[in-house]
Amino acid sequence: MRYGIVTIFPEFIHSYLGSGILKKALEKGLIAIAVHNLRDFTQDIHRTVDDYPYGGSSGMVMKPEPFFTAVETLYPDTTQRRIIMLSPAGKRFDQDMAMELSKETRLILFLCGRYEAIDERVRNSLVNDEISIGDYILTGGELPALVIIDAVTRLVPGVLGDNRSAETESFSWGILDYPQYTRPSIFRDLAVPDILLSGNHKDIRLWRRKEALRRTLERRPELLENIRLSDEDCRLINEIKEESQ
Ligand code: SAM
Repeated sequence: MRYGIVTIFPEFIHSYLGSGILKKALEKGLIAIAVHNLRDFTQDIHRTVDDYPYGGSSGMVMKPEPFFTAVETLYPDTTQRRIIMLSPAGKRFDQDMAMELSKETRLILFLCGRYEAIDERVRNSLVNDEISIGDYILTGGELPALVIIDAVTRLVPGVLGDNRSAETESFSWGILDYPQYTRPSIFRDLAVPDILLSGNHKDIRLWRRKEALRRTLERRPELLENIRLSDEDCRLINEIKEESQ
């Protein structure tokens, strides 16, 4: 999996890549990330990346030339790159999108905005996808790029020690994850559910499925509308509903 990031704050990206699972994935060669400073692709002595908006208004707009020069210099082959612009106006990022991106064979290049926006011509003429990570405004596209890289990289085979953990997590099943416990079995007066200590794998699987359904029903019921429920799921949901009456 290959990524590129164009940003005015490369050090921000490097600091995140320096620990945890992403660092290990980089060291193992499972992913490669090239971080590019947008200012290296400016033409003037001040390395200017922004200018006043046409039509007036507050704030600054990122100039188009440095983005075009960066992309055309670094990744001239249009068939070998997929350019993603981070923007609150983009398609909302989710686990399905992460899954789709994890199968990408081209290099994924993220363009990180700052200030008020990136000049619209970048979006219209350079970009393949415009992605938002949620309905709120951040100061820049670096965190969104890292959020996407993090979520996608976890799905790359070999990145997680145990591939099953990605498969059974929240959203991968289409529902939220079940509650997890570790030792000690009793902490203060709080006990782990007996069933998890029983060693009965069939019962444990059923309990986990039921608790995942319960959590989804309570917190994100709309998720259940988008998945096909098995007969067992329907029975468990009925049990949950009866228990709450
Ligand atoms: N004026 C813009 C608006 O109202 O949509 C917000 C610009 S924001 C301060 C600066 C940059 O941060 C954006 O160009 C984008 O790259 C990034 N950004 C901010 N919030 C984001 C979000 N929710 N998802 C993706 N990118 C975001």
